[in-house]
Amino acid sequence: MTTPKITYILGAGRSGSTVLERLLSSAPDVVGVGEVATLWRQPLSDLTCSCGAPAPECAFWTDVRAKVGFSDSTLRDLAEAE
Ligand SMILES: [Zn+2]
Repeated sequence: MTTPKITYILGAGRSGSTVLERLLSSAPDVVGVGEVATLWRQPLSDLTCSCGAPAPECAFWTDVRAKVGFSDSTLRDLAEAE
């Protein structure tokens, strides 16, 4: 397994950072994770993955959540902590 390379895109609101993320994540072997730092601010069921699938049904995120043990109660705990 290779170590993934991470590109962090930072920008002010309406600066084009989302467009840049979508452009980059259209390339093979690139995954756009969106605003993952605010993942707990709304129910997972309200989120749509950049692949177009509802977040709870996305194969990528389902695999990630399973590997790191990230459950709905984890999201609630993070929201409460914030
Ligand atoms: Zn997805």
